Amino acid sequence: MDSRSNYIQEKIKSSSGEAYIRKWVKGNFLGKGGFAKVYEFMNTETRETFAAKVIPKESLLKKRAKQKLISEIKIHKSVKHKHVVGFEHYFEDSSCVYILLNLCPNQSLNELLKRRKRLHEIEVRYYTLQIVSALEYLHKNRVIHRDLKLGNLFINEDMDLKLGDFGLAAKLDFDGERKRTICGTPNYIAPEVLEGRNGHSYEVDIWSLGVIIYTLIVGKPPFETSNVKSTYDKIRKNSYYFPEHVSISKEAKSLIKLVLNSNPTKRPTLEDIKDHQFLVLPSPPTLHPSLLACPPTKT
Ligand code: ADP
Repeated sequence: MDSRSNYIQEKIKSSSGEAYIRKWVKGNFLGKGGFAKVYEFMNTETRETFAAKVIPKESLLKKRAKQKLISEIKIHKSVKHKHVVGFEHYFEDSSCVYILLNLCPNQSLNELLKRRKRLHEIEVRYYTLQIVSALEYLHKNRVIHRDLKLGNLFINEDMDLKLGDFGLAAKLDFDGERKRTICGTPNYIAPEVLEGRNGHSYEVDIWSLGVIIYTLIVGKPPFETSNVKSTYDKIRKNSYYFPEHVSISKEAKSLIKLVLNSNPTKRPTLEDIKDHQFLVLPSPPTLHPSLLACPPTKT
């Protein structure tokens, strides 16, 4: 492999108009998304490291792909919150666009759940409160995330949860605006998005939050089937159940049932969710990193 390809040069123009070069070294591969590959990038001067989303320009030839990236950057750049992946800055060279994000070295809840099979309710409470806090912030700023799922919820070195990937997010011009584009990830998509008739709004994120809570406690998503069409059928019919072999508290069941309401106007608000019995039970200020690897021993 050509070792020089691991060095990326960022051309910068200072406020006085002077041009200089910042050098980055490409390190570990972190993951792959729709058209991006994500790597660790280290600033050769300061030795600071970030997660860099690298998007080849050849994947941006179609107008739609380009617009999607511009929208992702515009929205992500405009938000800053303890539980949202920090957007550092972006730049481009002749071959790629690079988006520098705060590094979350502990991967996402998706990998965590694969290792752990399912989480204890106290952990689910800990993560849910952080997702709710991120959503409160986004919705107050008229941003709907629209792709809330385990794979977009990252864990940083302090075991803080960070919501990332604004590739499908929408910024509303006014609160009553309805969005019409069908988007989301099959297992997490809200019924009103599938129906499409009256458009959708903030409530789609609340629905996905319900899917997340269920999945973390039960170990698999509520509407999962072997194919997308029957998953969508199940979502439309609101057909899911709590398996008997998993012990689930009545508080958790009650919250999931309230949130997974087919009618978006009947779903609880984020305020209601915070006040629900499941979330007012004690929650730890932080989690021990050992919980990333092994299932907690039964007490
Ligand atoms: P896409 O928008 O193309 O789907 P994502 O933003 O989901 O891409 O990123 C793809 C993968 O890269 C993720 O699943 C994860 O493994 C890794 N990744 C993304 N952002 C970070 C980050 N801030 N820190 C660490 N890993 C990340």
